[in-house]
Amino acid sequence: MARILIVEDEPDIALGLQQDLVLEGYEVDVVGDGESALERVATGSFDLILLDVLLPGKDGFAVCRELRRSGTRTPIILLTAKSHEAEKVLGLELGADDYVTKPFSPVELRARIKAVLRRGANGSPEVFRFGEFEVDFDRFELRRCGEPVELTPIEFKLLAAFVRNRRSVLTRRQLLDKVWGRDTHVIDRVVDTHIGNLRRKIEPDPERPAFLLSVRGFGYRFEG
Ligand code: CA
Repeated sequence: MARILIVEDEPDIALGLQQDLVLEGYEVDVVGDGESALERVATGSFDLILLDVLLPGKDGFAVCRELRRSGTRTPIILLTAKSHEAEKVLGLELGADDYVTKPFSPVELRARIKAVLRRGANGSPEVFRFGEFEVDFDRFELRRCGEPVELTPIEFKLLAAFVRNRRSVLTRRQLLDKVWGRDTHVIDRVVDTHIGNLRRKIEPDPERPAFLLSVRGFGYRFEG
């Protein structure tokens, strides 16, 4: 049974949705604002999040962005107002999987939910987003605003190591192990050279990195 989190501040809509989805056989949780949504996702495991855009405090876009930035890959369907055509697109760029325009029919929403869950079950592409970039682990590809960025295999492996260990410091030795392999005779300086090359491809200002930070005396840390 799939678990769905509904993030909706209007009690009538939230209750209607909940009843409908419970009848469909889903397990359903409801929260009424963005902060609670982030907390609930952090502590529970959901198969899908139905996320209203207009919420008190932190709106649905901010919640979506934070979830994706923190590495949460749970599928998200945004519930948008009809007047927000531009917002829909923006929402999808933020990492949402689909959107439904309010007022929506229960039939339409159920169909979208099923489609998104099916995609998830078939192994949705493993993609991590930071800034204007997407790292596609299935295709070994980095894209900027949808356009592929050419990386060498070493650069891709480095980036992957950072993304998978984001916010942790990685020493040059650890990077050598992860990227070149344990028995490598490559020297530490080589790591710095490749990091420099990678920075030129992903940093808006390579001299002042925003993503790939140096941690003096230790190594590097990725903030994505
Ligand atoms: Ca709302």
